[in-house]
Amino acid sequence: MDSPASPSDFASQSCPLSDIPCQFQQELQTLRQEVDLLKEQVRTDALTGLYNFRFFSDALPLEMERARRSFQPLSLIVLDIDHFKGFNDRWGHELGNRALTHIAKLVALTIRKLDFACRFGGEEFVILLPNTDLRQAMNVAERLREIVATTALVHEENSITITASLGVDEFRGNHSDSPEGFVERVDAWLYRAKHAGRNCVQGPSIEVAEVTTTVTPEEKDALFGAFGTDDE
Ligand code: GH3
Ligand code: MG
Ligand code: MG
Repeated sequence: MDSPASPSDFASQSCPLSDIPCQFQQELQTLRQEVDLLKEQVRTDALTGLYNFRFFSDALPLEMERARRSFQPLSLIVLDIDHFKGFNDRWGHELGNRALTHIAKLVALTIRKLDFACRFGGEEFVILLPNTDLRQAMNVAERLREIVATTALVHEENSITITASLGVDEFRGNHSDSPEGFVERVDAWLYRAKHAGRNCVQGPSIEVAEVTTTVTPEEKDALFGAFGTDDE
């Protein structure tokens, strides 16, 4: 007896049930493509292309549960652009939007493939780092801070320096944190970074000497190729 047709059979060009041309085949395929696109849009921030707040809200409890079960650390970085209201006031909202995509690209280039970079809202980004302890996360945060501060946004004849402040902390399975509690903990470190003068990283203390601050040559090459000017 023939096995029943699977959904993926229907998505292919020929109908598995008959050789007679099927009028719904093309329509079905179009609908499938539209559903895939909508699924992607639902979890993506339209301006920056990073994951959005909805995705982050779903991913955080899942990753915390995974960390609990696997006894692996999970780290979280919150990055907030410094004095962004002043940036908008001086350069306008449109260039402000370009600054957000500029920062988003830097974040995407700096983190690892398994990390999740999300736009938390406004000029604030969160990076979720599975299987990553505090020390490693502090390294990533410091590299992010440095790349943002040293990669100017080019606009006409202007090179505009943007800085960001970052808060970092880790979650371990034995913590009793809720997802909201974990975010609040990291937010408190961000708050301290703002009060420490901005353009810096704050988190629970570890040996500062072990935090790597250099941008690797590969990252510099990637950045050189990734950014152009307004004139392009
Ligand atoms: P701080 O260093 O303390 O973070 O100061 P700040 O000015 O960055 O913080 P504040 O919360 O006062 O202002 C955030 C600004 O971010 C105000 C708002 O207009 C701007 N902003 C939020 N979302 C967007 C956006 O999507 N596009 C643009 N261009 N600006 C945005
Ligand atoms: Mg800000
Ligand atoms: Mg903010």
